[in-house]
Amino acid sequence: MLVLHCPYCGVDVDETDLHGGGEAHLTRHGPGSSDDEFHDYLFQRANPKGVHFERWRHVYGCGKYFHAARCTMTLEVFGTYSAQTLEPPQEIKDAIMAKRPDWTGGAKS
Ligand SMILES: [Zn+2]
Repeated sequence: MLVLHCPYCGVDVDETDLHGGGEAHLTRHGPGSSDDEFHDYLFQRANPKGVHFERWRHVYGCGKYFHAARCTMTLEVFGTYSAQTLEPPQEIKDAIMAKRPDWTGGAKS
């Protein structure tokens, strides 16, 4: 079972108390953007085999969204952090690099 640490409540939460919110760090495009930008915002998502940044909502707790960095192959969680960030914090990147030295990616911009 997937267990994530809610950065707001400070507790470890089973996935049954969470709801997935899709890919984290998406650039939102709205009025004034090109058709291609809006199309990509609506439909294009990364589907990496490895490190992935996701949005999760602590539905049966505080109700807030947060981000998680985890490996899609092993389900290993590298850390969770506030959703009020434009990119993963350095300590999350460091945790990933410590376990995946060949990791070169970052959040999708
Ligand atoms: Zn919470």
